[in-house]
Amino acid sequence: MTDSAAVALDARKTVLATIRSEERFLLVTHEHPDGDALGSLIGMQALLRALGKDSLMVIAPEDFPLPYEYRFLSLDGLVTGPPADLAERTVMFLDCGNLDRNPLGALLDLPSLVNIDHHHDNTRFGTVNYVVEDASCTAEIVWDLLHATGVELTTSIAEALYVGLVTDTGRFSYENTTSRSHLMAGELIEAGVDVAALYRRIYEGIPQAKLALLCRALSTVKLYADGRLAAAVLTIVDFEETGAEDSHSEGVIDNLRALAGVKVAMLVRDVTVGGRGVARKVSLRATDNDIDVSAIARLHGGGGHRRAAGFTSELAASELVDAVRAHV
Ligand code: AMP
Ligand code: MN
Ligand code: MN
Repeated sequence: MTDSAAVALDARKTVLATIRSEERFLLVTHEHPDGDALGSLIGMQALLRALGKDSLMVIAPEDFPLPYEYRFLSLDGLVTGPPADLAERTVMFLDCGNLDRNPLGALLDLPSLVNIDHHHDNTRFGTVNYVVEDASCTAEIVWDLLHATGVELTTSIAEALYVGLVTDTGRFSYENTTSRSHLMAGELIEAGVDVAALYRRIYEGIPQAKLALLCRALSTVKLYADGRLAAAVLTIVDFEETGAEDSHSEGVIDNLRALAGVKVAMLVRDVTVGGRGVARKVSLRATDNDIDVSAIARLHGGGGHRRAAGFTSELAASELVDAVRAHV
């Protein structure tokens, strides 16, 4: 067994012991929650409640409304700020690689933090760090914990976990997709997931504004470094004129990564930051292992996976493109 596998096995034991011994929990995920953030949060919430625990999950008010594709998920036990008894709760982070992405700064001072995640660059900010780097999604870790605790996989838990699985694996297409991911999918389907219905909920029913935003983004695509870098830029004006929301930019970058010859795809988009004006959110995708885009993202205060990473910056779009070009 490798050192990291042994560490993970130890952490798994500690997580299971904590789940069994503690009574009150608060579940947290990263800001702008994606399918895996929500799926793992909801799955863990259901697991804890099935064990008779008092569990709440917190999502910051700024993250609402959730992206349209996830609005069907039911969020039982949701709070939008730290509960009054925060100090008595075990705080558990799911799918959150670092505390900067934490929507509740107040949680930083807590003595006991359980950190469950699959990002290889997770900063191990918890008092317990259960980081499974080869898990396709955090929902896959929750699925394993369901087995370990003997909690029944109901259809609604299976749906939440499937959302995490299908979105983080890019519909079972990214390199993080393993036989285990498919085994998990098989079990979730056995538990009642309607694959076609869920697919339609997440990937279809696209608002017209999203299509309009995609058209804009595609019209800005530029190639650099002999076609190895493809970059697109979306400005505040693009969002305003199309009526698109920020989350409608999800998936745009996949079109750039799909271009022949591209090693790195880049999307720069304007985001409004809590009254402080406009900043730029950069998404990066790599087509193979030659370039680790999470390393580029970390240089700018972000992070992620080797082939999918991101960061937020105050720099202008052209400066950001130049900065990434230097690495490609
Ligand atoms: P995105 O481009 O926003 O879809 O993000 C792609 C990947 O990068 C996801 O796995 C995120 O977890 C990660 N990521 C995005 N933004 C950040 C950030 N500011 N800090 C750390 N990780 C990030
Ligand atoms: Mn996520
Ligand atoms: Mn994830």
